[in-house]
Amino acid sequence: MPGGGFLNLPRETGARVILKPGRQGPLQRGRRWVYRTEIDRIEGDFQAGDTVQVFDAYGRFVAKGFINLRSMIAVRVLTDDPDEPIDEDFWIGRLNRAWNYRRLVLDDLEACRVVHSEADGLPGLIVDKFGEFLVVQTLALGIDRWKPVIVRALDDIFLPIGIYERNDAPVRDLEGLEQRAGFIKGPFDPRIEIREHGLRFLVDVAQGQKTGHFLDQRDNRLLAGRLARGARVLDAFCYTGGFACHTAAGGAAEVTAVDASADALALARSNAERNGLADRIRFVEANAFDFLRAAADAGEQYDMIVLDPPAFAKNRRALERAYRGYKEINLRAMRMLVPGGILVTCSCSHHMDRMLFEEMLLDAANDVGRRVRIVQRRGAAPDHPVLLGMPETEYLKCYVLHVW
Ligand code: SAH
Repeated sequence: MPGGGFLNLPRETGARVILKPGRQGPLQRGRRWVYRTEIDRIEGDFQAGDTVQVFDAYGRFVAKGFINLRSMIAVRVLTDDPDEPIDEDFWIGRLNRAWNYRRLVLDDLEACRVVHSEADGLPGLIVDKFGEFLVVQTLALGIDRWKPVIVRALDDIFLPIGIYERNDAPVRDLEGLEQRAGFIKGPFDPRIEIREHGLRFLVDVAQGQKTGHFLDQRDNRLLAGRLARGARVLDAFCYTGGFACHTAAGGAAEVTAVDASADALALARSNAERNGLADRIRFVEANAFDFLRAAADAGEQYDMIVLDPPAFAKNRRALERAYRGYKEINLRAMRMLVPGGILVTCSCSHHMDRMLFEEMLLDAANDVGRRVRIVQRRGAAPDHPVLLGMPETEYLKCYVLHVW
């Protein structure tokens, strides 16, 4: 099994990170990050990625975690217990805990997220399971250095046929980590077929976006399918056709699925065929903003519209522009819905929080003179839990709206 390189594993050091006065509160209430700006001083030697201890300004122990001063997030907390060692058994224990949680909350474990970073006490680590295969991302320096141990533990727990690394993620730049992708255990055909609520999808773990498939929207796709009987549906930002296939399978009369990526649409077409739905889904390669504008101007009408764009606000500064982007697409969608139509509208920007998202929706509704009722305020599927006390772990909003 892969591994090796154990000589260079992070060490548990005696280095002490002393916080500025009053900065321990959020950590004690659940936030798992220490920002660089919250640190008063550091005593003792360490290398980036090593375990350090965090103390408040009075010298009282707060937490232990791994350190990387290159990042704005200087320490990521691993434990609140000063006596819990951060060693191989620690990681094995946390990975088992994450897997046991999925076994508790999910009915179907074939395709799911088995590790969701901070929310699983495994900062910076993402592991998605697609059938007999795992896709891994180590997005923080500390966890990246523990990778040999983590990969070996994953191999022992899941006995996967193959493991693929998708560390070609821009956030790694912020940690001073290089971009890389490839087989950790393999090679194997990176196009993997999974089942999701009774439908089959081809996931390309090598070329697809992120880890290949957006597992967080799994249950929202199912719900959209249940509401789509007889409907004329528009799935903007369709990626590999998840909502399009589920609404078609749910009895939609016709579905138009739009995406800007030709690669995504090629997979989407093959997914439609795989499920015998190709005759009811029309795929369009276009910028969704342009498509929505042209369709609205042409007087098109739909019974259901799904908006699942990429994150428009990657940081707080980009929020104002993002708000306008979200408002534009939601406004055009509302305009095109028949009275009593359903809008399934999503945002995966953490910075666009629920309050702001609802304000934007109301703003859009008022501009087009429509009345909107919230059918459901939803989020990600339960394998992407939110850590109470750490709002940063909540990112996906999926609102099901009834538009008059
Ligand atoms: N709803 C999908 C996931 C969507 S991810 C699912 O359930 O799997 C966001 C998608 O938006 C990506 O496929 C990306 O290619 C596409 N995208 C990004 N910007 C776009 C734009 N301006 N117009 C159309 N598609 C866009």
